[in-house]
Amino acid sequence: MRVLIIGAGVGGLCLAQGLRAADLDVAVHERAAAPTEQLASYGIHLDADGCRALHECLPSATWARLDATAAPARDTLRFHDQHLRPLATRDREPAGPPDPVTRRRAVSRDALREVLLDGLTGAGDATGGGGVVRWAKAYTGYERIAGGRLRAYFADGSHTDGDLLIGADGSNSRVRRQYLPELPRLDLGVANIAGRCPLTPEIADQLPAALVDGSVNNVVPPGPGWMFVSTWGAPEGGRAPTWSGRTSPPGTATPRTSNTWPGRACVNWCWTASAAGLPHCAPWSPPAAPPRSRR
Ligand SMILES: Cc1cc2nc3c(=O)[nH]c(=O)nc-3n(C[C@H](O)[C@H](O)[C@H](O)COP(=O)(O)OP(=O)(O)OC[C@H]3O[C@@H](n4cnc5c(N)ncnc54)[C@H](O)[C@@H]3O)c2cc1C
Repeated sequence: MRVLIIGAGVGGLCLAQGLRAADLDVAVHERAAAPTEQLASYGIHLDADGCRALHECLPSATWARLDATAAPARDTLRFHDQHLRPLATRDREPAGPPDPVTRRRAVSRDALREVLLDGLTGAGDATGGGGVVRWAKAYTGYERIAGGRLRAYFADGSHTDGDLLIGADGSNSRVRRQYLPELPRLDLGVANIAGRCPLTPEIADQLPAALVDGSVNNVVPPGPGWMFVSTWGAPEGGRAPTWSGRTSPPGTATPRTSNTWPGRACVNWCWTASAAGLPHCAPWSPPAAPPRSRR
């Protein structure tokens, strides 16, 4: 059986690893021209389910590589009001030693993708040949062909045949649009703005402890709008987070440029609101307090 996966994101690559481990013939088609074609690398937290799935699907050497690349992350979820007064805390930090598989981890997206690509790229296939992952293959649609098989088409005019087509092409999936047209993507009028800044000692000193201890924080005011804040730290000896990256156009030899933080930790934040909710953040502010080192 030949399985065609569209999208070399977290889901598509993890699935490809699992199918390969089960000795199935699998090909992943990704629209990006190269693995490095990514604007920025936001950190990602792996919870117990995510770790379990990766442990199940990855070859043991690849799992060991992920384990070494990821940093331990605190399993505490906090909710605050818009003045940073605590509303609720869910603390799932284990009392004893953490489970070696399911313990919560933080990893940069760059590093996670590199690990997930382990063994899936062939020599000299930067633009699509050889390996399980075919780059620069922007999927456009499929049709059913003889023998119950499927044919997938790509923007470069090529096509490929398989027995099963998996849409792992993200939230705006073209596979889903064709296969399940009755399930359109709904615009809820909600916008997400995400960013990060280096966690310098000066910034850490001015932030409340809960925002810099690695826990996941949600600032939830009454009414619309919501903010997520968490710090992210690279493991000792691991890679510092990348804040921007750029690839050259396909076919050019210029190497990727990227920049990393001066320190090894950063604060990630993500603000979610409806357009109408934007003005509501004006009165948000924590209660006035001296910097923590002077308390
Ligand atoms: C700011 C932010 C922070 C997040 N933090 C976390 C976190 O800490 N933990 C967590 O578990 N989740 C987190 N998430 C959610 C997580 O990123 C997604 O759930 C996950 O990436 C979904 O994986 P996926 O493989 O389905 O899709 P994606 O990762 O979006 O991958 C889709 C892939 O398909 C490719 N593609 C799209 N269209 C085509 C096409 N036509 N042809 C070929 N290829 C195509 C894309 O280029 C991409 O490589 C976060 C999301 C955001 C935005």
